[in-house]
Amino acid sequence: MRLLILTLAFVVANADAQLRDGYWTAEQSQAILDATLEVTLDPDLSHLSDAESLALVELLAAGRIMNALYEAQRHREAADARPALLKLHDESGDSRATQNLLDLWYLFKGPIATTLDNERLAFVPVSPEQPGKTVYPDGLTRDEIDRFLAENPAATADLLNVRSVVRRATASNIAADIAQLDGFPGIDALHIGLREKLESLAPNAKTLYAVPYALAYAPQLGKVRQHLATAAELLRSESPDFAAYLNNKGRDLLSSNYESGDASWVSGDFDGLNIQIGSYETYDDSLFGVKAFFSASILARDEEKSRALEKAIAGLQAIEDSLPYEHHKTVNTRLPVGVYNIIADFGQARGANTATILPNDADHSRKYGRTILLRNNIMTNPDIFANSKKRFDAVIDACCRDHLSSEGGFDRTLWHEIGHYLGVSKTADGRDLDSALADTSDLFEEMKSDLVSLFATPALHAAGYYDDAGMRAVYAGGIRRTLQIVQPRPEQPYQNMQLMQFNFYMENGLIEPSPESGLLVINYDRYHDVVTELLRQVLQIQYVGDRAQAHAFVQRWNYWDDNLHGSVAQRMIDTNAHRRTLVRYKALSE
Ligand SMILES: [Zn+2]
Repeated sequence: MRLLILTLAFVVANADAQLRDGYWTAEQSQAILDATLEVTLDPDLSHLSDAESLALVELLAAGRIMNALYEAQRHREAADARPALLKLHDESGDSRATQNLLDLWYLFKGPIATTLDNERLAFVPVSPEQPGKTVYPDGLTRDEIDRFLAENPAATADLLNVRSVVRRATASNIAADIAQLDGFPGIDALHIGLREKLESLAPNAKTLYAVPYALAYAPQLGKVRQHLATAAELLRSESPDFAAYLNNKGRDLLSSNYESGDASWVSGDFDGLNIQIGSYETYDDSLFGVKAFFSASILARDEEKSRALEKAIAGLQAIEDSLPYEHHKTVNTRLPVGVYNIIADFGQARGANTATILPNDADHSRKYGRTILLRNNIMTNPDIFANSKKRFDAVIDACCRDHLSSEGGFDRTLWHEIGHYLGVSKTADGRDLDSALADTSDLFEEMKSDLVSLFATPALHAAGYYDDAGMRAVYAGGIRRTLQIVQPRPEQPYQNMQLMQFNFYMENGLIEPSPESGLLVINYDRYHDVVTELLRQVLQIQYVGDRAQAHAFVQRWNYWDDNLHGSVAQRMIDTNAHRRTLVRYKALSE
């Protein structure tokens, strides 16, 4: 018996020894995993045709490449650190410690975890995270870019392009880019002027230049295009609009111009399948907020729910015209909304987000409209709803707890996405909001959409779209969203704009502590006025497009007081509700 104990002790010590040098121990990782709700998506795919089922295999293969590209975009050492971790896991005989690290990798899409205190830390031996991830040179600051662009204004369009990698003009960087261009004549042909630009660069590490993603990631994007083209061929006669979209999209990835794919995506008639693929969202660019990161979502359409919804959202122009600002636009009435069940997500899109509206490009959405993809099997997942209601119940007075419902969450989310479609899309002098507001543009855009959703609620109630309970559920969901379990980091646009709403609502009496219970009461009779006022200010800031004014507004409303916010957070933490959701996909058997 003693011998066995000694042997066990040796094995444990040995496993620990292997896990030093930057690998977290099982105890460190377990705390985060214990606070994580795991959900597996396994939608019914029996409505897919034979050709669609075959095409799905190709789309999943394309998605896997996008996932690896995304990890490589976020951390320079990801491509080496993952095989090293897999090897360690093998050598350890599938130990719990290394399995935990693989789970963390999956959860955080790379080697950097967000701790329960909201810190970003490496859990395997890699260098700390860069704010510009890998799409800017390591160590580059916003000041340095600003100074460079002030001296070289002609470089602005290239350096701040949504799909370009910024580099220092060292001799080796320039030579590597020219060699890559030589290796991919298709990319060369599609980018007129790129070769001349690269060849005319004088080596100087203080000079910044940019190359399109199409060049920087040419080998991988070429393979993605192959898979999309094969899927298109399978669906050519059965689903011609979808096939045309896949072909256009595949070419767009290589041309760095998303217009043809976006147009055929938004305006085509698709059948059972849909896919969002490319680089669209800029949330990972904590340096400048302009670079989009790779993602893919493969979706199965819920035909019945989709048709019901399209009818329900007639009359958008009236809502646009009622928004509290003066420069109303004509809304493109072609607004394809679909209810989808997720088959698999990749890269930036992977996780529990509830809906998507794309494209973001202001000119593309003006010309072609945008498509809204509601992620039904996330929004109606009973485990996810029960988890978030637990926290809501811990801080909301008994008066209002039962007002929350998952249907209300669905409607609030739907109108948040429609909110992106309404209101200011360019500044008074015609600039895109992304470049005008830069690092706060995502924050204002998301806050606007939250507020439009709440602002439209009484009008939709009057029109019979919501009954009394439905309206209250949207309102309760609007408050639930503002409750923060931890103080946001500066680079988290969603969490910061939610905190700002919370503060505005508190100061304006929309929510207030009950004198009896000390818990928060929702004053529904104040709701519309308070939301209207905040929306008015947000739309005004977007319309003016002044970065200093935007910063001053954020500074005014983005504050955290441990007595107030800290105690709200503590009550939610004490429920032991899960802090994060890890989503797995049956289709990937991961
Ligand atoms: Zn949004």
